[in-house]
Amino acid sequence: MQLFMLKGKRISLWGLGREGLATLHFLRAKLGNIPLTIITDAPLQDDKIPNDDNLVFASGADIPTALQTTDIVIKSPGISRYRPELIAFRQNGGEVTTPTNIWLAQPRNAPAIAVTGSNGKSTTVCLLHHILNNVGFPAQLAGNIGTPLLELDPLTDCRAWIIELSSYQTADLYSTSGPPLLDIALVLNLFPEHLQWHQSHEQYYRDKLNILISPTTQAILNAADPRIRERHAPHRPNTIWFNDHAGYHVAQDWLYHKQKPILKKNDWPLKGIHNLVNLAAALTLCQTLGLNEHDCLQAALCFPGLPHRLEYLGQIGQHQIVNDSNSKTPEATLAALDSFPGETLTLIAGGEDRGQDFNTLATYIVEHPLHAVITAYETGPRLHTALKDAISKKGTHITSPKLLQAKDLTEATQIAQNITPEGGLILLSPAAPSYDGFKSFEDRGNQFKQFITTA
Ligand code: ADP
Repeated sequence: MQLFMLKGKRISLWGLGREGLATLHFLRAKLGNIPLTIITDAPLQDDKIPNDDNLVFASGADIPTALQTTDIVIKSPGISRYRPELIAFRQNGGEVTTPTNIWLAQPRNAPAIAVTGSNGKSTTVCLLHHILNNVGFPAQLAGNIGTPLLELDPLTDCRAWIIELSSYQTADLYSTSGPPLLDIALVLNLFPEHLQWHQSHEQYYRDKLNILISPTTQAILNAADPRIRERHAPHRPNTIWFNDHAGYHVAQDWLYHKQKPILKKNDWPLKGIHNLVNLAAALTLCQTLGLNEHDCLQAALCFPGLPHRLEYLGQIGQHQIVNDSNSKTPEATLAALDSFPGETLTLIAGGEDRGQDFNTLATYIVEHPLHAVITAYETGPRLHTALKDAISKKGTHITSPKLLQAKDLTEATQIAQNITPEGGLILLSPAAPSYDGFKSFEDRGNQFKQFITTA
């Protein structure tokens, strides 16, 4: 939505987290001291109320009344577009937009390159940012990874905007005539997630693929992901596939470009086949930008990876320790386990229950026996049961993994250190979000680091 379309309208900002605050500051800078309504689910705490005389606040039961006197809602990503109040608001002719749409509608200096997917977004945008800046193609990093777009001037001197978009953000992108909303859109993978916000898995997939809404956006898609393939319109123009034999792809522990092997899995510090796939995606994008493959690959080789994603903490006591706290899905934990073949491994898992299906993970664990699985938190009992079921299906002769339950991460860490044989590996990879026991996945990972070093 272009700025002039906001002029003279009654505007409500729904949500006042970091992105909502960035929007408030942006509107103040661009539209002056106009009256604005701030909508929040619960009343704001005193220390969160901005020092601004031209704000009106509405929360809880007052929200429908506030919407009656609103022309445009600018909503933060956490607010689901499928909430009944917003559906009614749209049906009554109200318009809903987002900080992302407002930023993308402004003139900018460089192409907007967006990355989405169920897993691997942050790793891939940071990898891309690292590569581009190292090969003399200065890039800015923004979006879900940290800095809200509206905190950034789109005319900043750079050659590319690398933007991480969550499904909450892609769902609300809308088509405009004129230039494409995004210049390039990369979709890494689709796994079932975020049921509460999107209301069905199919809607979640649709909302993610809404990143391709402008047909002129250059799409870069994972050919090996069946959910992306099935849902892709066969005649969509401007589509390039990675993980396909005709381009960058991964086969038998190698990254290839067409028939040419270019990197062996163990020659890259980032663990796992899934990270090699992320690299295939990043190199496909670099190729689209016309960059030299050798230079990009050299830059990728010194990418250090991100904390809380298969982060190797070293040898502590008698064990190797890996922190994968940002594993929020069974698929991420499956990718983590697949990264350590042959290790004597104890897995610590469990977190917020979002109805995840643990059957595939449980079957995988039983097919590739680990030393032990220690479960805790909301999903702990369900994962424990799925594992017991998978073991009994396989047969009574199965003696591993040991299955243990802990009351929290401190206890799980202690148990892991006590039962894992010398030289074994302890992996925290929860397969679930952190909010049932921690402030964030960073908090969970940092607490794990503390427990493991002080135990
Ligand atoms: P996101 O930003 O999408 O949450 P991250 O890069 O932060 O993704 O990684 C989150 C989790 O997913 C980590 O456990 C990481 O090891 C795992 N992961 C990263 N890339 C992939 C991938 N391509 N497929 C499956 N899991 C992945």
